[in-house]
This record gives sequence, C-alpha cells and structure tokens, in this order.
Amino acid sequence: MTHALKLAYGSVAVALVVLAIKALAWWLSGSIALMSDALESIVNVATAIAALWAVHVASIPPDEGHPFGHHKAEYFSAVLEGVLIVIAAIFILRAAWTGFTSPPPDIQVWPGLGVNILASVINGAWCWVLLRQGRRLRSPALMADGRHLLSDVVSSVGVTIGVLLAVATGWLWLDAALAALVAANILWSGWQVIRVSIGGLMDESVPGADLEAMRSVIAENADGAVEAHDLKARHAGSATFVEFHLVVPGEMSVDAAHDICDRIEAALRTEISQCTVTIHVEPEHKAKHSGIVVL
Ligand code: ZN
Ligand code: ZN
Repeated sequence: MTHALKLAYGSVAVALVVLAIKALAWWLSGSIALMSDALESIVNVATAIAALWAVHVASIPPDEGHPFGHHKAEYFSAVLEGVLIVIAAIFILRAAWTGFTSPPPDIQVWPGLGVNILASVINGAWCWVLLRQGRRLRSPALMADGRHLLSDVVSSVGVTIGVLLAVATGWLWLDAALAALVAANILWSGWQVIRVSIGGLMDESVPGADLEAMRSVIAENADGAVEAHDLKARHAGSATFVEFHLVVPGEMSVDAAHDICDRIEAALRTEISQCTVTIHVEPEHKAKHSGIVVL
C-alpha cells in the first residue's frame, strides 16, 4: 500500500471517530453551534472517502486507455469535496437562522464542550499530518482533505468560544450567530478547494518559480545544443509533464542530439519527482533567439 493510500485510510478512520464524538457533544448540549459542528463532520466522512477513492485511482499506472496516467482523479475528488463543503455550510446557515429566530431554551455547556474540544484536538493533530504529508507527496486530494479539516478546527474553536460567551452573557442568540460565522468560514474553504482543483483540471501552468528552475536545469545540461524554447509544464496531481523545443546544429547526428535530450531528461527527473519530459528537436534556422540560452 502506498504512503498516500495509508494516509487516506487514516483520514476515513479519524473522520468516523470525530463524527461520533461531535454527535455526542451536540446530544449532550443541545447547542446549535455544536450541531453545526457535528453536521460538518458528516461532510468530513464523505470527503475522506472521496479522497481515498481518488488516491487509489491516481496510483493506478498508465494503461492503454489512459496513457498519461490517472493522476487527475484526485482533482475530481477535490472538486467534489469542495461542493460538499459548500453544501454543509448552507445547512449550517439554515440551522443558524432557525436558532436565531427561536433560540433553544437552554444550552448544557460543559459536557458538550469538553467532548467537542477532544474532537478538535484529534482533528487538529490529523490535519497537521495531512497537510505536511500531502504537500510532500503533492497529492491534491490529501491537501484538500487537510485544508478542509483545518477549517473544521477553526470552526470548532470559534464554536467553543461562542458557546462559552453565550452562557456567560446569557445572550443565547450568540450561539446561532457563531454558527453563521462557522458557515462563512466553511464556505470560504470550500471555494479554495474548488478553485485549486479547477486549476489542475484546466492544465494551469506550474508556478513561475518552478518554471524558472526548469529553465536553469535545461540551460546547464544542454551542452552542444544552440537553445531551447517554448517550454511548457503542468502538474497532474503528483505527476509533472514538461515539454519544449531543443534547437541543435542542423548537421548534428540524431545520436548526438538524442544524447543531449537524455542528459536534460535525467537532470530534470532528479530535480522534479515523477516528471515526464517530451523534447522536440529542431535545426538551427528554427532558433527564436529569445528562448533558453545554453550555458
Ligand atoms: Zn521551435
Ligand atoms: Zn530517447
């Protein structure tokens, strides 16, 4: 089992445990804010399962039907996660409105809050693991899951403060107001997750700094060539696809030109993990004199 897959299974387990704990907190307290928190956890379970599916599909090697690999499955799951996050926010807003117009007669604070804080600690720890490992493995699904959990932790802290304030001041409407704030935070994180995934599905270019790094690797390893131009690179989940034109002297043998290509490909592969390089070789009259200058 790959590391990413193990993390994805871990997420499902953590989400189920936290859902159980938060449902208990709501049941013990009767607080709308705590209910909004528990509802959000149902979404956590769904997103963790979606991430698990995506990480599994993305790990399947390229085949005849999908010669570029299956990496983009992760973006689908991340978009789905984003949509689920937004739906959860809408549910919470509705509950907040109901609570605002007719506040619950009484909120039992301590047992509910205690249990909820426990859930947040578990969530916070797991979120830290997911964000760190997700970034290292460059897995959009795990990153989306981690970011989602982070919004969950932020919401829970807000809810805890709100419920305490509501009880201390006797203003029970604070409970509902806090739930609405939680919903706004969740909406924002949902939008972020969707935006990043759509960038991946649209073959957004890699960040400028990464492109610059590739340029210098090519310049340093293309000895014998004239120049390189039309460099394009995109991420598909953890994979990176790089392509460019390499201008060589017209009389250079195919053998020699191929050696240069192999050298650049090897250098790029040590710089960027899971990278696929495609090079189009051209004679010198195709030079653009504006591309990458060979050092
Ligand atoms: Zn060209
Ligand atoms: Zn070759």
